[in-house]
Amino acid sequence: MRIDLHCHSTASDGTDTPAELVRNAAAAGLDVVALTDHDTTRGYAEAVAALPEGLTLVTGAELSCRVDGVSMHMLAYLFDPEEPDLLAERELVRDDRVPRAHGMIAKLNGLGVPVTWEQVARIAGDGSVGRPHVASALVELGVVPTVSDAFTQEWLADGGRAYVEKHETDPFEAIRLVKQAGGVCVFAHPGASKRGRTVPESAIAEMAAAGLDGIEVDHMDHDEDTRARLRGLAGELGLLVTGSSDYHGSRKTVLLGEYTTDPEVYGEITRRATGAFPVPGTGGA
Ligand code: AMP
Ligand code: ZN
Ligand code: FE
Ligand code: FE
Repeated sequence: MRIDLHCHSTASDGTDTPAELVRNAAAAGLDVVALTDHDTTRGYAEAVAALPEGLTLVTGAELSCRVDGVSMHMLAYLFDPEEPDLLAERELVRDDRVPRAHGMIAKLNGLGVPVTWEQVARIAGDGSVGRPHVASALVELGVVPTVSDAFTQEWLADGGRAYVEKHETDPFEAIRLVKQAGGVCVFAHPGASKRGRTVPESAIAEMAAAGLDGIEVDHMDHDEDTRARLRGLAGELGLLVTGSSDYHGSRKTVLLGEYTTDPEVYGEITRRATGAFPVPGTGGA
């Protein structure tokens, strides 16, 4: 069984539509794929409708969080997408992404970059708008060669010259909301130090006590030492260990299924979830 529990579509900042994502996941030989767009569930219906036979879809989202001034991402799986409190929180974060994008564009204009809202809105389409869309605009304008190159202090990295914060949920509140909606919580790429400051182990321990289910360990942003350290921490805290690609289509170089999750861990995630069930593919509509 090959299981990839963290992927983005055009519902947020991936470049595959949800239908393309599930087709590409099947073509990559995956048995299970999770759709975890940033702060939104709007890709679900299209992914389910296009789901190839033999591929199971895990519905989820990657929630933008912040604790003690440090941004972090919480993967939420198999929650009830209609549970009103979590739904309201996702909307709050998503809605705030729009004025925040305008703010980053204004800062870029101030730095002499002629990026416009029209350009960013065209790139984002109906996806939840984020820095990778602004980064793609910078690539189009020839300011940087790749999306990744826009994530520096010079441009869009946390605290960078054109960075603007958005509303982000307290992770303890996120855990409470996800549990209330019957879902399972996994702290995404907790050791991704290239992206900025990371959350200390003491805070991860507090999250474990508050109901965090697991941490994502096998991820492209973690080197071998970081993975070993996080695996040890998960053992100490009784947390599940996952691995995932964090696929973004052509906005990142990582491939679907490049990192995967152990089938036993996947089984445990599905046993804990009560808000939704994995969807087995029947061959598409
Ligand atoms: P936002 O949620 O709008 O603040 O954007 C954060 C997203 O930017 C992350 O979820 C990643 O998808 C993407 N990102 C962060 N760092 C990088 C990087 N170095 N290269 C490419 N994408 C990145
Ligand atoms: Zn993303
Ligand atoms: Fe993330
Ligand atoms: Fe992600």
